[in-house]
Amino acid sequence: MSQRAFIGLLALGPLDPEILRRLRRALTKIFALPVKILRPRPVPPQTFHIVRGQHHSTQILEHLLSENDTGAFRLLGVTAVDLYIPILTFVFGEAQLNGKAAVISLFRPRGDADGSSPDLAVVLKRLLKLSAHELGHTFGLGHCREEGCLMGFAANLEKLDQKNLALCRYCQVLLGDFFQDQGITPRFKRYEGTPAPNAAIPVADSGRRRRR
Ligand SMILES: [Zn+2]
Ligand SMILES: [Zn+2]
Repeated sequence: MSQRAFIGLLALGPLDPEILRRLRRALTKIFALPVKILRPRPVPPQTFHIVRGQHHSTQILEHLLSENDTGAFRLLGVTAVDLYIPILTFVFGEAQLNGKAAVISLFRPRGDADGSSPDLAVVLKRLLKLSAHELGHTFGLGHCREEGCLMGFAANLEKLDQKNLALCRYCQVLLGDFFQDQGITPRFKRYEGTPAPNAAIPVADSGRRRRR
C-alpha cells in the first residue's frame, strides 16, 4: 500500500478552528508537504499538574502517539493550555527529535502569561514559527546557532519574535537530506510505505530553568 506522506494537525482541547486553518495553509508552503486537519482530541487530563497548573508536554506527546491511527507521517498538536517539563518553568512546545510527534501551546504566544494582548497577526506568526520549529525537530533538525534561523532556540517571546520564518541554508540542506533519506520528494512524488521507526528524543523549547 502506498500512501502520500502528510503532516497531521490537530487541536488538543478547545481551539479557534481558524487558527488551525491558517497554520495548515502556511505549513503546507513551508515544508511543501500536504497538511491535514485531523479530528480534535481533549487535552489528556492525566497530563495536568495540579500544583503547577500546567500540562506536561512530554506526556502529551506520548498521548498523541498512543492513538496515532491517523496515518500521518508527523503529528502536531496545538493546545491553548500552558505546557511544562519538570526542569523548566514552561515550554512553548516540545517535539521528538527525529520522532513522530510535536506539540505547541497558544498560551504564551497570545499573552496569557504576561497579560499582553497582541494582535491576531502577531499571535499567528508566533504559532507558525513554533509549529515549523517543532516540526523541524521531528525532521531531525537540532537547534541552530545561525543568526535568525527558525531552528534557533528561543527562550522567550522576544527571541521568538526576532527569529525569521525561514531556515538558514545549512538547515535547508539538512532538511533536504532528511526528506531524501525518507524517500519523500515533497509535493511532487508519492511516498511509499511507512517511515522506519527512529529513536525519538524529546526536545523542549522554552523558558527558564526552574529555581528551587
Ligand atoms: Zn539553521
Ligand atoms: Zn527547539
